[in-house]
Amino acid sequence: MVNRPPPIALSLLLEAFTLPRSVYVLGAGASAPTTLMMQQLPSQIIDRFWKFGAFPAHPLSLPLDINASRIMNIPGDRLDYRSEELRIKRQLDSLSEEIQFEQELASRISSEAVKAITIRLLSPEPPTFCPQYQVFQLAQEPSIFNLNVDGLAWRFYRGVLDLHGTVPDRELLSSLGWNALEDSLLEFPDLRGPSIPGLVYPGPEDLTITQRPTYRGAEQLLFCAHYVVLIGYSFGRMDDVATYKFLCTHLRRTPKPVIVVDLDPWDLMLRIQDEVKSTKVYGFRAHWNVLAQAIIETTRVRHHKSCSMSRPCPTCVSYSYQRLLDRLG
Ligand SMILES: [Zn+2]
Repeated sequence: MVNRPPPIALSLLLEAFTLPRSVYVLGAGASAPTTLMMQQLPSQIIDRFWKFGAFPAHPLSLPLDINASRIMNIPGDRLDYRSEELRIKRQLDSLSEEIQFEQELASRISSEAVKAITIRLLSPEPPTFCPQYQVFQLAQEPSIFNLNVDGLAWRFYRGVLDLHGTVPDRELLSSLGWNALEDSLLEFPDLRGPSIPGLVYPGPEDLTITQRPTYRGAEQLLFCAHYVVLIGYSFGRMDDVATYKFLCTHLRRTPKPVIVVDLDPWDLMLRIQDEVKSTKVYGFRAHWNVLAQAIIETTRVRHHKSCSMSRPCPTCVSYSYQRLLDRLG
């Protein structure tokens, strides 16, 4: 029934599940596809602005701040909006009206409006089934370091360290009248928006972030861990330099196996191998939501006769994962 042996990284991941206090570091790939990915934000923000329906007559003189420009995927000043697409379009000798229009709107939105809309977009409608996080109910006393700000992890597993803070949930946003607030920020670009304590926006991390009490807690949990598992986390495409250094410093001091679970784990795997001078850094290429569902499934159904089911079995999980992928197409 199962032809290929499961990869070693999967066996180690499942072993980490059975050992108490393994550390799981969760990035955007861990919340996918429940939470919007970064690349979906610009078009949704522009769409919100368009639906608002009133725009300043001239482009704003103040450039977007570093976080807002990162969210909008604008490399430098506002005129570079979607510069890559623009370049390609120009090569084709016709700049599409849609891109031109988006560019016009992007030059008229304030950083505060971008951030307020982002907060709402990142606050997900809570799903009833969320294997990405529910799977941790099967792990032995996991230590979860969450870099996602969507607050989903807390809904399914108590005892999460939210290293980058969280956005308010939908109910709170609605009771705060968030939509009206967005309208005000879109209409009056000089207004300052609300600040959410502890929340880290996309963009380069403040280097003092590792002095926060949550990082002190993380340090102690790392010390106790037998395994460190990075799930869907590329350190914000290396924006999260402080968190990266924090983790690598610890791994150099108290070496332990690291497993990188991601759709493209290899670059980060090699980078960490080099940084911490360890050969015990493994990569496992997988869709986390599907893998998590496979792990949950195999606690209920076994796929081969000799399976003991006393602990998560790599052969069964591997089989189940493949079957789920095939079903999802
Ligand atoms: Zn099995």
